[in-house]
Amino acid sequence: MIDRRETQVALQAVREAARLCMYVRSHSASAPESIQKADASPVTTADFGSQALVCRQLHDAFPGDGVIAEESAAMLFEDAAAGTRERILEAVREQHTGAGATLDNVLRWIDLGSDREPSRRHWTLDPIDGTKGFIRGGQYVVALALIVEGEVDIGVLACPNLSLPGMTSNGVIVAAEKGGGTWSFDLQTLELFGRLDVSQEQQPARMRFCESVESGHSAHDTSALIAADVGIQGNPVRMDSQAKYAAVAAGMAEIYLRLPVSDTYVENIWDHAAGCLIVEEAGGRVTDMLGRALDFSRGAKLSGNEGIVASHGPVHDLLIQSVRMHL
Ligand code: AMP
Ligand code: MG
Repeated sequence: MIDRRETQVALQAVREAARLCMYVRSHSASAPESIQKADASPVTTADFGSQALVCRQLHDAFPGDGVIAEESAAMLFEDAAAGTRERILEAVREQHTGAGATLDNVLRWIDLGSDREPSRRHWTLDPIDGTKGFIRGGQYVVALALIVEGEVDIGVLACPNLSLPGMTSNGVIVAAEKGGGTWSFDLQTLELFGRLDVSQEQQPARMRFCESVESGHSAHDTSALIAADVGIQGNPVRMDSQAKYAAVAAGMAEIYLRLPVSDTYVENIWDHAAGCLIVEEAGGRVTDMLGRALDFSRGAKLSGNEGIVASHGPVHDLLIQSVRMHL
């Protein structure tokens, strides 16, 4: 079972944040309004609101812990962002009814996540992983992990649009503690569903692989070659966000491939820390595309790694061999 206080706080925090995301989505006429960040990627009211809520809860419970989170409040101080600021405040107040939810505090809470250097013990947060999925109504997750001395110790993914086998409606939280297994919870009630185990499939022809929807985030053509090499016959299942790791942990897919499309892109820890532990604790393996362990000790970036391969195990080494052949 998983029962540490850190995990309980993480579960509560991502649930509150996921509720904010669902609120923003359901109160947007069509797609939620987004603005562009410096790297041209989109960010929405919900990304900022989610980060504010999670950082506030972490800071209340563990004021000494660092937090490396994706977003920064810097762009919200510009005059042009006045409307966005108001909408973030409104969404936060919908979830957090306490007196503290003032605009100044919300902006401060967002920037509680501005650490970039690792500390002995710190959290990493992607307040909405798969923002493009969130905007188009696909998969997205609130991803939170605790990293202690460079190792992922706890990983939690709140997945509002994901349904696991046996569930009757969407909305699940998948969580793992190092050494404690991977477990699923109802997103609304936090009621425990059960333990997750990776697929037992041994026949490559029946294995399912997933990858990013975005061909700008993962090389679809190369992953098709690699899947064919190991004998996979089906088409890839494309989904946004770390829901792909949850799918592998829950036995809904056997493999997740993420192959670089550019030589310069370096993966962020908040895109992989929670998902990595969730797959490992469900009995699977996660490495980079060359078979190296993911190194979470270097700060905000996985600067010692290239690409990602996550799997239920049996063909992991074959996948790495095939990647090396296609480099
Ligand atoms: P996914 O939903 O799997 O497509 O992954 C979404 C994440 O991809 C975002 O949170 C970004 O941090 C990350 N991302 C952005 N650009 C790239 C890129 N060129 N290669 C890989 N990942 C990227
Ligand atoms: Mg992300």
